[in-house]
Amino acid sequence: MAESILIVEDEDKIAGVLRDYLVASGYETHRLARGDEVEDWMRQHAADLVLLDVMLPGQNGLDVCKALRLFSPAAIIMVTARVEEIDRLLGLELGADDYICKPFSPREVVARVKAVLRRGHLNRVAAKADLPAPLPGGLVLDEPGWSAAIDGRDLGLTAVEFQLLRVLAGQPGRIFSREQLMDSMYRDERLVADRTVDSHVKKLRRKIADVLPDRELIHSVYGVGYKLD
Ligand code: CA
Repeated sequence: MAESILIVEDEDKIAGVLRDYLVASGYETHRLARGDEVEDWMRQHAADLVLLDVMLPGQNGLDVCKALRLFSPAAIIMVTARVEEIDRLLGLELGADDYICKPFSPREVVARVKAVLRRGHLNRVAAKADLPAPLPGGLVLDEPGWSAAIDGRDLGLTAVEFQLLRVLAGQPGRIFSREQLMDSMYRDERLVADRTVDSHVKKLRRKIADVLPDRELIHSVYGVGYKLD
């Protein structure tokens, strides 16, 4: 079955070009022109990937992305008109899988869509690994809510920290390399430096230590990566 792409774009011409190239590459497409129609549509149809413009009538792409991330496993590629905005978008930790800047070449968009779907698929397979129960330290993950708690106390994780923890918790004791963790977080190695993983792990550890001060759950393995144990 063809993978489906939802194009959210208010400019008809751009939406048309994207549709033509994606259909020619074997994808099914659907197009919405307003941000405030996306959530309802996705609840009923569930595309595999959403190409999401930032500037949209009704609701902007950032809010749409946040709303989708609460319930949808679809990959999201944000499309912005300003290259300077990409840094800001990354800082917001929206949980998007990739970022494309206008003006773009449609070929480039198709290549990115393919790459994100390929990696997204691998990642979903990994993320679907059932969480073992109980988890170390009394850790409880609420996957639909993208939150984690210990002893009923919410850790207050960002989307990225939650994803990181979800991967580690899928296989306690297994050492994950920074690269594997990075893939699970952004899946765009061009934009994420190695040390970003370390800084997210550091924040995650601090949040866990706030609730569970006398036990280390996330261990670093020198020169290799991290594990939950
Ligand atoms: Ca627009």
